[in-house]
Amino acid sequence: KSDSLAGKVITITGAGSGIGRASAVLMASRGAKLVLVDFNEATGNETLELVKEQEGEAIFVQADVSNEEHVQNYIQKAVETFGKIDVAFNNAGIIQKFQPFHETALSDFSRIIDVNLKGIFLGMKHALKVMDQQGHGHVINTASTTAIRAEHSLAAYTASKHGVAGLTKAAAIEYVRKGIRVNAICPGGVATSLTAAVPQMLQDSDYMPEEFPNMRMGRYAEPEELAELVAFLASDGSSYMTGSIILADGGLTL
Ligand code: NAD
Repeated sequence: KSDSLAGKVITITGAGSGIGRASAVLMASRGAKLVLVDFNEATGNETLELVKEQEGEAIFVQADVSNEEHVQNYIQKAVETFGKIDVAFNNAGIIQKFQPFHETALSDFSRIIDVNLKGIFLGMKHALKVMDQQGHGHVINTASTTAIRAEHSLAAYTASKHGVAGLTKAAAIEYVRKGIRVNAICPGGVATSLTAAVPQMLQDSDYMPEEFPNMRMGRYAEPEELAELVAFLASDGSSYMTGSIILADGGLTL
C-alpha cells in the first residue's frame, strides 16, 4: 500500500504535543519506527505511551532543538537504535507574543529565531548528514502560512517561518540528485496548545483582530488533519515532491 510506513525510521521534534503528537500516533499505526523528540520530558513520554498503545516501536529523547549538542544526540540515538533515518520531521516551534514591530525586544526576536529557525536548521543539518551517507531520505519541516504571507503583530514569527521556507528550498535543490527530498508544511490555525494560548496573548496586546487567525472554514484544523498530510509526505506516495511549501490552511491564505 502506498500509504504504508512499514519499517521507516522517522524522527519527530515537538512530539510531545499538537501536530507532532498526532503525527506520531498516526505514523506508528502505519508501521513507522519513531524517535520522539521534545523539550518537555513529561509530555514526550506521554506520546511514547500513546505510540506503544498502537503497538508502535519508538524511543523518546529529550532535547532542545535550538541546542546543537542536543540535536546531535537525538540523531545519534536514532541511528544507534534503528540503524538509519528515513524521514526527519522537524516540527517543534513556538509562538511569540503579539507586539508592534518597533517594540519588539531583541531578546524576544532572538528566542523565536533560535527555536523556529535555528532549530529547524540544526535538525536539517544533522539529519542531512546521515541521509547523505545513506543515499536516501526525506526532510519534512513545519513552516506556517506565515512562511507565505505576514501575520499582523507577529514579525519575528513571520520572519522565522519565511526562513523555514528558505531553508527547505535551499536544501531541496542541493540534495535533489542525492535521493533526498525536502518539503515543508504550512498549517493555518490548528487546535493545539499553541493556539489555545492565543486569546490571552491577544488580550495582553494592543492588537485586536476580529478573528485570529482567519478561519474560512469556521473552525481550526484538528492536529490529526495535519498528521494525515505528514503521513502522506512520509510515505513513498509523495515520491515526486521536493522543495514544496505545502498549504493545509482551510483557505486562510485565499
Ligand atoms: P504545540 O505547542 O502543541 O507543540 C509544540 C511542541 O514543541 C511542544 O510539545 C513543545 O514542548 C515543543 N517544543 C517547543 N520548543 C521546543 C524546543 N526548543 N525544543 C524541543 N521541543 C520544543 O504546538 P503545535 O501547534 O503542534 O506546533 C507545532 C508546529 O506547528 C510549530 O512549528 C508551529 O509554529 C507550527 N504551526 C502551528 C500552527 C497552529 O495553529 N497550531 C499554525 C502554523 C504552524
